[in-house]
Amino acid sequence: MKTKEGLWKLSPSGLYGFEECRTCFWLEHHHTRAPGLPFVLNMAMDSVLKSRYDAYREKEELPPEIQSLGNEGITLFRDIETLNKWRGSTMHLRVVNEKVGYEIGGKLDEVLIEKNGRLIPTDFKSSGYAPKEDKQKYYVSQLTAYAFMFQKHELNPSDRAILLHYFLKDPRNPSLQVEFISHIDPVRLDLPGFENKLEDIVGLLNGPYPGDNLACEKCLYYAGRNEKSNPDNR
Ligand SMILES: [Zn+2]
Repeated sequence: MKTKEGLWKLSPSGLYGFEECRTCFWLEHHHTRAPGLPFVLNMAMDSVLKSRYDAYREKEELPPEIQSLGNEGITLFRDIETLNKWRGSTMHLRVVNEKVGYEIGGKLDEVLIEKNGRLIPTDFKSSGYAPKEDKQKYYVSQLTAYAFMFQKHELNPSDRAILLHYFLKDPRNPSLQVEFISHIDPVRLDLPGFENKLEDIVGLLNGPYPGDNLACEKCLYYAGRNEKSNPDNR
């Protein structure tokens, strides 16, 4: 969708769609997105993790599951007031580019700091199972967007981000005392190439409908439905 100023409204978590299917990405930005179900359990888990990290922040320690990061001098971002702003609203780190024609804003889960002071965007990913394949491709644009927003707000971002996966230790354990284990997944960021990518994205959105993408299951699904509802079109 466009803002009332006529800028394309982009969100960090929506950027993967540009790689996945440009047709679906175009449609989702030209029309109101279909309502989705909220991931209530993931949201609850995010909230638990934020409280957990805040408790350790107060003690100036790292949670034990990311202690290995402490060995290279990484600490939690100290300023809880600023972090809560970044967690609570997309407006604080929003980047507006009227020349190219977009605005992008997003919320962060957590921020880690390198020994040299650079900020590492950090995102919690909770799931029932251990991440099976390389999940980075789904999240690299989202995480690069956070680093880009830091840079545009005169904060010094790292060239990496971190995904913190939390998943069930044993999905077959019937106890209600559910136990989670975690996995640290560092992601390399290509920050210098990111502005070009945003320009490509705006170029696509300013252009005409890119046509059905026969390699995309969602496109095929909608194409099939249209054929059914308009039998004369065959
Ligand atoms: Zn598609």
